Amino acid sequence: MRAQEFLLERWTANTVKDYFDSQTGNQVKKSSVSVSQPMPGCILLTFKSIPDLTRCFFRLSEFANSGQNVDMVDFLDHWIDREGQADYFKFWDGFNITNQGFESWVKKTREFSQAEQVLIDIVKNKKPSTQKWCVLGITTDDPATRTHELFHAKYYLDAEFKHKVDQLIAEFKQDSAYKIMAKTLKQRLDYIKNIDEEIAAYLYAGSQIKMVFGIECQPWVKKFQELAE
Ligand SMILES: [Zn+2]
Repeated sequence: MRAQEFLLERWTANTVKDYFDSQTGNQVKKSSVSVSQPMPGCILLTFKSIPDLTRCFFRLSEFANSGQNVDMVDFLDHWIDREGQADYFKFWDGFNITNQGFESWVKKTREFSQAEQVLIDIVKNKKPSTQKWCVLGITTDDPATRTHELFHAKYYLDAEFKHKVDQLIAEFKQDSAYKIMAKTLKQRLDYIKNIDEEIAAYLYAGSQIKMVFGIECQPWVKKFQELAE
């Protein structure tokens, strides 16, 4: 998931300075995360910075994708580039985790980092009472990422919405743009699972299609966005 080439660098020298001017140490504080419930069954955590967000969600998200925790060997082989940078922690700006993913990670993990413990405490306190629920993590910067992650939540929680999305995706598969998007997700962004859902999320959010996939898809963006109405 080395996607820095596709995404904007949102963590600049200035934001680092602004942020750490009001912080002491390297701890993620509960007070720097705001929590809301944008739809029933969904808790949305909004962080002030990408490093705080990624430190809370990195292992959880990778566990939800692969079923196991990233160990040190994986980390060294996979997450640090040839210049010695772990860029992921500067640019990955959105996460969505289902109740299943969250609960099985908590059960199967022995030790949590300080940042992860903050996330766990928040989720334990604010956990929705619905049978299915999910937790999203974003930063304040980008409305398109917020829309993208809210799409995943709605797709998971709202069966009627999911049905409509699945029908539209089946139609979109006839378009050559589908192949381009699927190929980019698999080959360049390391996606293995849920390719169709991911494509739908990009079309629904709309504004990142050109940047991530290098194509225009306006008529389809319109169709996917109409599903929200
Ligand atoms: Zn997504």
